[in-house]
Amino acid sequence: MTLIYKGRETAVRIDKETAVRVTALREKGIAPCLAVVRVGERPDDMAYESGLMKRASELAVNVRRVLLPADVRQDAVERVIDDLNADEAVHGILVFCPLPAHLNERAVCERIAPDKDVDGTTAMSAAGVFLGKPIGYPPCTADAVVRILEDRQVPLRGRKVCVVGRSNVVGKPLSLMLIGKSATVTVCHSATADLPAETLAADIIVSCAGRAGLIGRRHVRPGQVVIDVGINFDKDGRMCGDAAAEEIDGIVGAMTPVPGGVGSVTISVLMSHVAEAAGRKRL
Ligand code: NAP
Repeated sequence: MTLIYKGRETAVRIDKETAVRVTALREKGIAPCLAVVRVGERPDDMAYESGLMKRASELAVNVRRVLLPADVRQDAVERVIDDLNADEAVHGILVFCPLPAHLNERAVCERIAPDKDVDGTTAMSAAGVFLGKPIGYPPCTADAVVRILEDRQVPLRGRKVCVVGRSNVVGKPLSLMLIGKSATVTVCHSATADLPAETLAADIIVSCAGRAGLIGRRHVRPGQVVIDVGINFDKDGRMCGDAAAEEIDGIVGAMTPVPGGVGSVTISVLMSHVAEAAGRKRL
């Protein structure tokens, strides 16, 4: 039988810890606050924003929304970031990406002060992940994968993990975080010669390739844990992950569903980073 690791269950446990932390901060007169900067009105951003605002309100985390027109100038966005960096009441800054094409996204993200970079977008946060030091924060999705594995008590030390995907936002930071947990990590990508050979050799497969059906029957064996980060849409417009869930269900030991898996944990991780940021400086 394959266990289904529902993200919501891990999210609830992370939220409980965050709520305790927020209460302690508020008793000290600190109200954790996340600033979200949204340029334009992309439906994806607005959906994420409304989910985030709901969770923040449940956890007593303040959210300051900064909404900018789609044709905003680079210097205006950068001024907004500078003001938020300087504002002591703001502990975390999230910029919805991708930004419109006329903006230099990297320059905007790099402007976020590392101690407020709760979504891990700056080079300083990447350095923190690389060094395993609390400089900035790891990207929320990569952190969500590690939290799910830890929450489900999946041992990492000495275990073989195959990460499929090497992007700067998910695969690469995740691989480094797993090395930090003493896992033996193999990173696969589009030039990997024999993907099934790599995934079959692993105890844990994390797929973050963004390819529906990439991980099928011939990639898995009994006992493995499959964490599916992919968000794709099938030909009928239904959301699905990278794993052909119906093929591997019944073979692997455990897997995360899509939807309802890693994605459900990401906002909880973000809120935990905001609470941590609010406490890092002053507690
Ligand atoms: P990305 O930048 O497109 O990176 C995809 C990675 O997968 C690349 O490294 C690519 O290899 C590799 N890849 C593509 N096809 C492959 C194949 N056939 N075999 C092996 N590797 C392959 O994507 P991303 O931003 O990392 O996101 C990955 C997925 O996670 C997407 O579906 C995205 O929507 C999803 N996501 C989910 C969450 C969440 O909260 N659940 C958050 C963020 C992203 P190359 O480097 O060689 O091109």
